[in-house]
Amino acid sequence: MSRPSPRVDKGVVFHAERRRFLLDILKYMTEYGHEQLVACSEPSVGLKGFIVVHDTTLGPGAGGVRIWPYQSEDEAILDVLRLSRAMTYKSAVAGLSLGGGKAVLIADPAKDKTEAMMRAYGRYVETLGGRYITTTDVGSTTQDLEYIALETKHVAGLPTSAGGSGDTSELTGLGLYRGMQACAKAVWGSDSLSDRMVAMQGFGKVAQHTAEHLLKEGATLVATDIQEGALDNARQLGVKVVEPDEIYDVACDIFSPCALGGVLNSDTIPRLKCRIVAGGANNQLQAGEDGVELQRMAILYAPDYVINAGGIINVSCEVGATYSLERARAMTEGIYETVERVLRMSSMNDITTAQAAERLAEERLDSARKIRSR
Ligand code: NAD
Repeated sequence: MSRPSPRVDKGVVFHAERRRFLLDILKYMTEYGHEQLVACSEPSVGLKGFIVVHDTTLGPGAGGVRIWPYQSEDEAILDVLRLSRAMTYKSAVAGLSLGGGKAVLIADPAKDKTEAMMRAYGRYVETLGGRYITTTDVGSTTQDLEYIALETKHVAGLPTSAGGSGDTSELTGLGLYRGMQACAKAVWGSDSLSDRMVAMQGFGKVAQHTAEHLLKEGATLVATDIQEGALDNARQLGVKVVEPDEIYDVACDIFSPCALGGVLNSDTIPRLKCRIVAGGANNQLQAGEDGVELQRMAILYAPDYVINAGGIINVSCEVGATYSLERARAMTEGIYETVERVLRMSSMNDITTAQAAERLAEERLDSARKIRSR
């Protein structure tokens, strides 16, 4: 079939195919309830990206800014749409007064990131007037937030020295560890993780904080990463390192995806040799049926946005209140009980754990909408 010919309009090339994709974005947004998509462009500083506010029923849309060398704008848009929706569900299940939002910048964080780029992004956040609160994600750091904060006050997770709650990954790691314990209790009758084998995909900030808790309790770890620095960190902790693609084949008790999304799919799930999947990465399931397949294989899947909520819980303690680490820690410890609730709902209703988490989130969102409509 011949490709549609490009139309040149004032120097910009449009393809019929791309116009169709735009229509699909709007259809996707309508289907999944997204409120707003903002394109951010400042060529003079290399800024190219998108901010999405998914749902503000429970509060301002909050979520990190991901800086990643996406192969295409389409890939970046789909990622930010999916990630922002997961943020709505994450905050809803965690009982927070926050909605869902996310940003992605198309750039290589190791090479392209500059103060000017971060400030230009901050100006876009400011235009949303508080409908979106930005924080860190893959590729962004608390130092970046300091630059962003020069242009907008709608930032959370600034370094403690700058009056913020600091890097969110520490509490994300704590919450992930507590969630793993709740899963262990459900599968083996005891929440002890000592002598359990955990295979970690990605050994970045979240994985390292989780690993500290696991190693302290006596678990054995295997890890992989695509960056040599991260692998060095793993080796220093005595963690065995394997090649990126080998991680799916490691015989273990818990498989823990802590890199990027979409890693649980029809290619990878048949390779898993674990009883539990519990990781920090967002959007681990490529599609809903992957959750069904995990259940069919008797693998307990801890829904990602339930178990990785420690970071957003930390952020929520900073928004509109004086930050208290003690309160943030106590709330993060509560992920244990939230995971138990999700697992109970799943077995009582004979639905997957992912469906149970979604139901919990939607119930909370629905009741907030009802209260508002009165
Ligand atoms: P990070 O950038 O510190 O770590 C991610 C690591 O994954 C990096 O070391 C990277 O090299 C590695 N990686 C990327 N692709 C890989 C691949 N194909 N195979 C193996 N390793 C790969 O980020 P982070 O803050 O640790 O976040 C990890 C995940 O957890 C992300 O999906 C993020 O969205 C999610 N998450 C983070 C937080 C937080 O507080 N930081 C909160 C909730 C969810």
